[in-house]
Amino acid sequence: MFSVDKIRDDFPILKRKVNGNPLVYFDNAATSQTPQVVIDAIVDYYTNYNANIHRGVHTLSQEATDKYEESRSIIQKHFNAKYAHEIIFTSGTTHGINLVASGFSALLKKGDELIISALEHHSNIVPWQMLCDKTGAILKVIPMDNDGSLRMDIYHELLNVKTKLVFCNHVSNALGTINDIQEIIHAAHKFGAYVLIDGAQASPHIKVDVQDIDVDFYVTSAHKMCGPTGVGMLYGKESLLKKLPPYQGGGEMIEMVTFEKTTYAGLPHKFEAGTPNICGGIVFGTAIDYLNEIGFEAIAKQETELLNYATDKLQEIEGLKIYGTAKKTAVISFNIENIHPYDMGVILDKLGIAVRTGHHCAQPIMDFYSIPGTVRASFAFYNTQQEIDQLVKAIHRAKAMLL
Ligand SMILES: *Cc1c(COP(=O)(O)O)cnc(C)c1O
Repeated sequence: MFSVDKIRDDFPILKRKVNGNPLVYFDNAATSQTPQVVIDAIVDYYTNYNANIHRGVHTLSQEATDKYEESRSIIQKHFNAKYAHEIIFTSGTTHGINLVASGFSALLKKGDELIISALEHHSNIVPWQMLCDKTGAILKVIPMDNDGSLRMDIYHELLNVKTKLVFCNHVSNALGTINDIQEIIHAAHKFGAYVLIDGAQASPHIKVDVQDIDVDFYVTSAHKMCGPTGVGMLYGKESLLKKLPPYQGGGEMIEMVTFEKTTYAGLPHKFEAGTPNICGGIVFGTAIDYLNEIGFEAIAKQETELLNYATDKLQEIEGLKIYGTAKKTAVISFNIENIHPYDMGVILDKLGIAVRTGHHCAQPIMDFYSIPGTVRASFAFYNTQQEIDQLVKAIHRAKAMLL
C-alpha cells in the first residue's frame, strides 16, 4: 500500500528547514530529490569498490564493471530495449541529444527537413539548429495551441518525403503537456523519418516501452528519476546506432589504434569514450529499482491527486492564470496578474517553498503566451496535499505584500 508518510521517510532532505520553515519542494521538474537507498549506494561505491571499469583485471575493477553493466541491464529492462547494448550511458539528456545530432551531420544533406515541436526545451532545439547550420538541412516547427498542446493537424501537413528526423519531448517541462508521441512516431515512420523523443520530463512519471512505441531514439536524465546528476541514457535502435558515427574519440571506444587507422569498438562502447560517471551509472539502476518498487501506477495515482487538488485550489485565487491545460503531468505553470514571477518565487522561498520561476529553458513557449516567464510548481509522489495548502497560503501572503 502506498503511504506518503512512509515514502517521505526515504528522503532525508525533506526533513530540513528553509528560512526557518519546513521545506516544501515543488521543483521536481528541475531535479528530483534523492532517496536514502541511492545515497547509500553512492557511499557503498566509494567506500568499497571505487575503480575504473572495463580495463582492470583486479578485483575492484571487476566488481565495478559488473555493477555498471548490471545497471545497464536494469535500464534496458525498465525501458524494454531489445538489447543492453542499445543503452548508451550519457551525462544526461542534453548529451544524448547532442550525440545523435552530431552523428546525423554525416548522414544529412542540403534541403533535408527536420521537424521539431514548439514545446521543446532549449536542449532539444539548439543542437538541431547547429546541425542545420552544418548540413544545410531545414528546421520546421510544429506550432502549439493555447491549451499547451501541439497542433497535430499541422504536424501531418509538415511531414513529407524530405523529412529525415522528428524531435519532440514526451512531456513538456514548462507546462507538463503529455504529447501524443505514438501518433508522432507512427506518422513520421510512414515517410521513412526517424524520431527522437526527449523523455527527461516523462520518465519520472510514465513507464515507457521503447519497442512497443517503436521509437528510434529515447533520451533521459537520472537526476529527474531520483538518481544523481551527471548521468543519463540514450536508447537507440541497434541498426541506427550502428549507422551513426562515434561522437567523441578517446579511450574505451576503440578496437585498435595505430597512427594510420583506428577501428572503433562495437556497441555500446563506440559511444562511451573516456572514463564515464561510474558511480552515477551504477546508482542510476538503484534509482530505477526504487521507483519500480513504489510502482508507476501508485506514482501516477498520487501525482494525479496532487495535480487535481492543486489545480482546484490555485484556480480559486483571484488573478491567478494557469498556462497549459491540456492532458499533463503534475506541473502547474502560473502567473498572478501584476506580479512578476521572479518576485513571487523570492517570497515563496522565504516561506520555505521551492518553485521554479522564469522561462524554464523554453523561451519559445513564453513568447507564444507573450510573458517573460511563469511560476512553476511541479509535484512528485513524495509531495502532499498539506504542502499544497501551504503553497496556497503563501501565495495569498505574497499577494498581500506585492499588490
Ligand atoms: C531537464 C530537461 C532536459 C535537460 O536535461 P539535462 O539533464 O539538463 O541534460 C531536456 N528536456 C526536458 C524536457 C527536460 O525536462
